[in-house]
Order: sequence, then structure tokens, then C-alpha cells
Amino acid sequence: MEGFDSMMRIAMGYSLSTAYRLTDMQQNRNQQILWRKVWKNIAPTKVKCFTWLVVRRAGLTQEVLKKKGQIIVSRSQLCGKTEETNSHLFLHCSFTSQLWSLFFSLTNTIWTTPEHTADLLGCWIRRGGSKRRKKWWRIIPLCIWWTSVEGKE
Ligand SMILES: [Zn+2]
Repeated sequence: MEGFDSMMRIAMGYSLSTAYRLTDMQQNRNQQILWRKVWKNIAPTKVKCFTWLVVRRAGLTQEVLKKKGQIIVSRSQLCGKTEETNSHLFLHCSFTSQLWSLFFSLTNTIWTTPEHTADLLGCWIRRGGSKRRKKWWRIIPLCIWWTSVEGKE
């Protein structure tokens, strides 16, 4: 690795650790921009806070409870078919997928769902068209995530 680091230092004019540090700084900056846009969203505050939990994977899903040491047989609370993870619950569950599909068919949007909620929100925020349209576009994931959990109760 030292040889590779030296080669990179020579090739790029700075060390690999500097490159990693710059990448981290850029990722932090992207996160700050993302969260600024989420907090400016027109959704109610409780929905924005819920979004924060979803994207940070901090909500009490069965995945989180297992990581905290609870012994449970994990099953999706929405479909009951597979293990309940953050990504399953908010992106890939058949119940949640129906909400996403409904939105995509209504808007003629072609979309490939990413693996994680943070990836989806990062991509989603950058789209939306005009300023007026972006305001409504940006509320969609928040509404779908909120509805997927609230709609089940
Ligand atoms: Zn499910």
C-alpha cells in the first residue's frame, strides 16, 4: 500500500490520506447541502424529523433492535414476507413499492430504486425541474416514507 501511496503522491502531487480527507470533506459538504434542503422542505416538522431517522437508519426497525442485541425473529411489519431492514421497509417492501410505483406511473417517471434511503434522497433532491416543481418534488420521498408507516397502523 505504501508503494501505491507513493505513486499516488507523485502522480497527484499530494498523499493518498489527503485525497481521502478531501473526499470526506466533500461528502460532509454534500450531506450538509442535503439536510439543508430537507429542513427547508414544505413537509410538517414531524415528517422531516421522521425522514432524518429513516435516512440515518436510526428508527426502531427490527434491524436496529437486532443490532442492539434483542433476539427477535425479524419479519417486515408491512408485508410479513422477509426480514425487516430500513431499506426493505422504506424502499423495497411490496407495500412501499406500490406507493413508489403509483407515484412513478402518475408522473411518467422512470426510476431505479437505489439500495439505501440515503442514496435515494441524495439523488432525488438533485432532480425536480423548475423551482416551483422542485418544492413539490422534494416532498415525495418524505410523504411516501411517512405514509408507508402511518398507513399500516
Ligand atoms: Zn415488507
